Amino acid sequence: MSPPKICVVGSANLDLNTYTNRLPVPGETLHAHRFTMGYGGKGANQAVMAARLGADVVLVARVGNDLFGRDMLAHLRTEGIDTRRVTSTDGVPTGTAVITVDDAGRNTIAVTPGANGLLAPADVDAARSAIESARVLVCQQEVPIETNLAAMRLAVEAGVPVVFNPAPASTTIPAEAYRLSTVFCPNEHEAAVLTGKPVESPEEAEAAARELMARGAHNVVVTLGARGCVVVTARDVTALPAPAVEAVDTTGAGDAFIGSLAFFLARGDDLMTAAQRANRIAAISVQSPGTQTSFPRAADLPADLV
Ligand code: ATP
Repeated sequence: MSPPKICVVGSANLDLNTYTNRLPVPGETLHAHRFTMGYGGKGANQAVMAARLGADVVLVARVGNDLFGRDMLAHLRTEGIDTRRVTSTDGVPTGTAVITVDDAGRNTIAVTPGANGLLAPADVDAARSAIESARVLVCQQEVPIETNLAAMRLAVEAGVPVVFNPAPASTTIPAEAYRLSTVFCPNEHEAAVLTGKPVESPEEAEAAARELMARGAHNVVVTLGARGCVVVTARDVTALPAPAVEAVDTTGAGDAFIGSLAFFLARGDDLMTAAQRANRIAAISVQSPGTQTSFPRAADLPADLV
């Protein structure tokens, strides 16, 4: 069987993580005791997750024509991702997240979108054949919404299902984005922000999903952290608990879930089966530290999962 083709339109960031005893106050210089760099950006994370499961992934993104951009491109290629549609852009930095974490685990995060903010509908036009030949298109909200809409329109016109992850949270999403979403997949916080109502239980997640479907989404999957997810379609509602595991770091769990969901859908699984399997993969990712570093590869998974 040939690998399922997935097109991801989205962000690529370098995470710069500094670990200090406490968070600095304004004007203060502190000595940190550790520094790490990590690959991030929701687009790149989801692309890497799908590629590690065995998908043929094309990423449509922008990085700066700088050290970080070159490093990101090399990394994505190492992961087997097709980077021909990742444009190296002059005069703008690669997106970064500068993160300070104190000994109590509290953090401050400053994100500079940089080149991600320049990903344009023209980039999507240039990737038309990759979108139209994909089994699934995946979009999130770290690039301009007009760019997402351009990609989603192309996909829907070509009969390609769209997984839309409305992250990070925003209060408004154009009505067209709902209508173009085959699977609209927020976490509980994003679902709460979008609906203006608390989403803390499977019942509240179902109510939120119904509201999002009334706005036009065809199917909704709300992820609920350790409680797994709720899948709502026109026909049924199913709460799928996540496996009980010892979580050490849940950063990137949402991206592990979305990347896996896209992979299983592209492979031909129905939505329920795909969400059940994505729950299992995301639960594996929370058991090791980091974002992409915690994403498993197909070869390390039980045969019944991939
Ligand atoms: P993040 O922002 O940390 O990347 P998120 O808030 O977008 O994640 P969550 O809803 O917290 O996403 O988690 C996504 C999926 O990860 C869940 O649906 C579940 O499958 C898995 N997951 C998260 N936390 C746990 C946990 N403690 N135990 C088992 N599975 C988990």
